Parts: sequence; C-alpha cells; structure tokens
Amino acid sequence: MPIKVLLPVQRGAVKYIPMTFHLVASSAGNGRVTEEAVLQQVANINASYADQEAKFYIDRFNYFDNDAVYNTPGSAAARSQMKLRRAYYDPQDDWLVSRKGEINAVSSTLAHEAGHFFSLAHPFSGWDCHPYTLDEYTNPVNVDFTLPCEGGGGSSLIELHNRSNCNTAGDHVCDTPEDYNLGLLYQNDCDENTSIMDKNGEVIKPMTNNFMSYYRDCSTYEFTTTQKSLINTDFFTIKRAYIRTGVVPNTTPVVDPVAYVSPINGEESNGLSNILLDWEDTPGANKYLVIYDRFASFTFNPVKTIVTSSELLITDALTENVTYYWKVWPYNESMTGAGYSTAQNFRAVLGTGINDIREIDGYSLSPNPVRDHADATLTISSLKAFGAVIEITDASGHVLTSDHLQIAPGISQIPLQTNDIPAGIYFVILHSTSGRLVERLLILE
Ligand SMILES: [Zn+2]
Repeated sequence: MPIKVLLPVQRGAVKYIPMTFHLVASSAGNGRVTEEAVLQQVANINASYADQEAKFYIDRFNYFDNDAVYNTPGSAAARSQMKLRRAYYDPQDDWLVSRKGEINAVSSTLAHEAGHFFSLAHPFSGWDCHPYTLDEYTNPVNVDFTLPCEGGGGSSLIELHNRSNCNTAGDHVCDTPEDYNLGLLYQNDCDENTSIMDKNGEVIKPMTNNFMSYYRDCSTYEFTTTQKSLINTDFFTIKRAYIRTGVVPNTTPVVDPVAYVSPINGEESNGLSNILLDWEDTPGANKYLVIYDRFASFTFNPVKTIVTSSELLITDALTENVTYYWKVWPYNESMTGAGYSTAQNFRAVLGTGINDIREIDGYSLSPNPVRDHADATLTISSLKAFGAVIEITDASGHVLTSDHLQIAPGISQIPLQTNDIPAGIYFVILHSTSGRLVERLLILE
C-alpha cells in the first residue's frame, strides 16, 4: 500500500499579496482618488498585517472613467465593466470596492475588507440587519436567534458570553467574543457602551478593536490569533493560487529624503520646454511619484507622473517668468509610506542663448549653473535627424571639448562632462549644417 505523504501547510512562508488599484472616476473624469492616498493606504494596510508575515504590494495602477462603477459599484453594469478591465476572469469577483474617503493613512476599512477577502466573517454575524436594541431584544436578551432581515435570511444563533456556543454562533470563531453589532449604532467611540446581558444574564463583552467589527475610533485594531490563522489558511488554499504568483516584490525600506539635483533653489530653467527634473537615486526606491505646479500648494494645475528612474523630462511648455514647484515621493511596490520630500522651485525663463538650427524646436541646458563637477545635460527636441558637432568653449572662444553627434528625431539628451573644467563661464555650442545653438554655461566649484 502506498504511503500517503501529507505536505505541511506552508507555515512561515511570507504572503505576498498583489493589488491592482483601479482608480475610478466619473465618465467625465472627475472624482478619482489620488495616487498619494493609495500610497498612504498601502503603507497603512501593511502596518495592519505586519504581524502576519503578509506583504501587500502594488501590482499596478489602472485608471478608468465610468459612471456606473463610480456611482453604483454593486450594479450589474459596474460588474461587467470591472470584468472587462481585469487581466483574468474569476467568477468570485475578487475585487474590493472602497470609498475614496476610506483610502488614506489611518482608515482600517481596507484591512477589514481584505479580512473578508481572506474568508473572515464579522464577529457580529447574524446581527447585520438588526443590531441589538432594547426594544427588539430586551435586556437580558430573551431569545436564542437574531431577527431575520426584511425579506428573510440573516438570522443566526446568538453567541453567549460563556463561549459555550462559540463554534456555532456569530462568526464561529471562538477567540472573537460575542458582538451584538453595537458598533454600528455607537460608531464614534471605541467603547463597548453596554450593560447588555446575554440570555444567561451575563454582561456581553465584545472585542471593540477587532478589525472585523464595526466599532470606530479605536486607537489600534487587531486580528485575533484564530482570525490570523484563517487568513493564512485561506491564502494558501487552491482557490488563491492565482494570487500566489511567485513574484517577490521589492521590500527594501524607503526612508531617505530625495536628494534633488536640479533645478533647485530658485534656479532658472534655460528654456521653457524640455526641462529635466533630476534627483539622485533614492535607496530602496524603484518608482517615483513626481508632481509639479505653479503653486507651492500644488493646487493650480498640478501635473503628476510616475517614473521608474530618477529624472523626469517636462515636455509641456512652461510659462515664461513663472516660478514652478516640484517634489518627489520615492517608493517601491510594497514600501510606499515615505511621502513627498521637500519641494524645490525654479523659474521658467527663455534660454539666454541663440538657436538657428532649423531642426531644433526646443532645448534646455541644466543644471546651470553646474556645481561640484557634475554633468550638465543639453536636452533638445528635434523635428528630424541631423548630424552635429557639440563643443564647450571658454569665454574667449578656445574649444575645450568637441564631439560629433548624430541626433535622432524627438527628445535627445546630450551629457556634458565638466569634471576637468575649472570654474568659470563657458559656452555650449551645437553646430549643424543649418546653423548653431549657443548657450552659456556657468560652472561653479
Ligand atoms: Zn465587513
């Protein structure tokens, strides 16, 4: 007879939980939750599950505009729209819907909903439609079963304080005590708010700060040992195989502030388009949320972009003589709570140089001034390909460096090394058969 081998449950294995955030707006494109709120939320839910060897991570953001999903997410029309936007089909509709007001750094709602996703019931199961009231249940409670919902269903055995029926009453979880859903009626404090007695005449003692209850305003929330075990079991069941992708997300902490390079400290942009925002790689980060705007409050007409390297080229034309503000939020898929680093500003001004190369319709030279022997970058926007020579000359016209280039159509970035050049005023000159681009470059120690 063959020996039956029982494989152990994967205890101790970290649960990596991918999440796609569908940022839904109305069909007109209004009302979408912000990326900032989602980043705070991911940090928040990871804190809530930190003691469970669980790591939620952002698989991707998806943006779509649909009135049905935005206004009535439970409707059939909304469900069919959601199914259209998923990479795979799952008959159980495994998405969570959250109000945008609940997506933030402090709300426990998503942790609660994720608990449902991983099989947990409310500790007050059976009391959903009729939370305890004196009128309906008396004190002590004098019935064995909760009142059914209008239209039937929802009635269940009432859990006793002595736990004698905890396996078959409420959520059937014995380390979550009896909960008669008072949290729904007294939402605004974490207090039990009760002298209510069960059928045995014992005062009930709900666990108000359980993630799966409805009590609000608790300073911290917890899952019980059995709830954690149920979450773990559910994650490793066959029905969750599709989220156990084998992908191990980046979990390196991202804590350092962004080290900005340019343009910073009120520098001038040297051109109104193709301005390169540049910063050093932030340890641990592989994504950056970048925002720029005319207002220091970032409320005028902010432009937000997520990039995977430590620079962003602004291709929009900026307004001359206006100060722009920009800041960067470094993160990776699971470490999202760093927040924005302090904003920098620069003034958008026309380049002081000349450009009569027909192929070039925009350029910038940054940083300028350049400090600490860093590289400067000449960024050009070209209408078509052309050959050119790039030079750096000193103020009296002596050529210090000279290189041949083949410029491709579109945006090109030409690095200019300054480490062998002493401090002073120089000119960057691009020659082509159709003309010259000349821009002044200031090199500081
Ligand atoms: Zn719930």
